[in-house]
Amino acid sequence: MTQDVVVIGGGPGGVATALTLAKANVPCTLVEKASFPRDKICGDAISGKVVATLNRIDPAIMDEFGGFPAQVGSWGVSFIAPNRKALRVPFQREYDAATDTPPGFISKRTDFDHFLWQRAKAHPLIATREEHEVTHLLRHGEHWIIRGKEQPDLSARLVIIANGAQSTFSRTIGGLEKDNRHYCAGIRTYWSGVKDMEADNFIELHFVKDFLPGYLWIFPLPNGQANVGVGMRSDYISKKKVNLKQELMRILREDAAFKDCFANATLDDDPKGFGLPLGSTQRPISGDGFMLIGDAASLIDPFTGEGIGNAIISGKVAAEVAVKALEKQNFTHNALQMYDKEVYRKLGRELQLSYRLQQLVNYPWLFNLVVNKANRNETLQETISCMFEDLDMRQRLKQPGFYWKLLFGG
Ligand SMILES: Cc1cc2nc3c(=O)[nH]c(=O)nc-3n(C[C@H](O)[C@H](O)[C@H](O)COP(=O)(O)OP(=O)(O)OC[C@H]3O[C@@H](n4cnc5c(N)ncnc54)[C@H](O)[C@@H]3O)c2cc1C
Repeated sequence: MTQDVVVIGGGPGGVATALTLAKANVPCTLVEKASFPRDKICGDAISGKVVATLNRIDPAIMDEFGGFPAQVGSWGVSFIAPNRKALRVPFQREYDAATDTPPGFISKRTDFDHFLWQRAKAHPLIATREEHEVTHLLRHGEHWIIRGKEQPDLSARLVIIANGAQSTFSRTIGGLEKDNRHYCAGIRTYWSGVKDMEADNFIELHFVKDFLPGYLWIFPLPNGQANVGVGMRSDYISKKKVNLKQELMRILREDAAFKDCFANATLDDDPKGFGLPLGSTQRPISGDGFMLIGDAASLIDPFTGEGIGNAIISGKVAAEVAVKALEKQNFTHNALQMYDKEVYRKLGRELQLSYRLQQLVNYPWLFNLVVNKANRNETLQETISCMFEDLDMRQRLKQPGFYWKLLFGG
């Protein structure tokens, strides 16, 4: 029997799509190749954007997650410039760590994704299928045959492709080719016993002098663990012939800023790598009978490497467009194109600004200068804090006048 909607991929993007459809009383089948709990290589930082969007779908989700033992709340981010000066940016300008719910969380994806999957599985309008790897999407007239390994075929009028960074369908069906200038590679490790991490579970982004334009992160986890990793744009990796795993271990072992903190720490897991398809260029993300979401649509923030929030936002938008398509019984590219418009209306500006910020890392002296001045000047520090919450403020980073004032102002 042909169904209306099948969602391929049970990560945060796929689950958000299925839950939004269910909220509008639209049933779907959610297909996932792994069985939960499963690992996903990630920094494990769950930003305020994730919290806010899930709250819009159903406030009970993050309420329940707040009481979940496998997470820690996070209150801000610390940017450590190449000259080792830190700029601490709270996620909220005024907060009381004792009473407020945290604006962000850090939780291993094994736990977070399992938690989300259970929410989808418990919903009567969502039919979940684990261990169902989709290998072929075949177009038959106006519907799709969804063929999996050793599984019965499914048939649907609309497929929502949410199967992540290694999605072959985003290339074969969506026509998205990998472009190293808009792609990043990352390595993740888990450690126990790292010393001197930032207060209030601030996440740490280090821009290490001899590892630019890459970045290194240290994110605290429950039970005294930490997620530690590095990322760099793929074109620079090729050009500079960087071995990310070796670089990560070298920095932690030899760099004066890290070696004492890691001297007695233990590595809990082998280093693992994965790709980050960046949203620094706009691409077509829908077609006849399909929409691409999350990493399959290349929507990761090019400065912070954050992708869970954009996967959830695009999943929510895709479900809303699917509901309209169902009402009109129109699944043509023409009808689904409003998905592209809405995703880029919501995220396009922010992605472009983050692309600018990514380029700032190529000018370490300017980066040092911004952090030095911000540490001496409370107003500038507040301005930068606001920039992370307010797009219009962030727009100022594009204006030469901002840097002029910084260089020659008080
Ligand atoms: C090293 C690294 C660090 C990162 N750090 C952060 C961070 O700290 N914070 C943040 O917000 N983002 C981070 N990201 C990005 C983030 O991991 C992704 O943007 C996010 O997981 C995208 O969600 P998604 O639902 O689109 O895809 P995924 O989470 O990848 O989910 C896709 C799902 O599809 C399934 N699947 C794949 N193929 C098939 C198939 N053929 N059939 C059926 N199912 C299939 C997979 O098993 C998976 O469960 C990081 C990424 C990397 C690589």
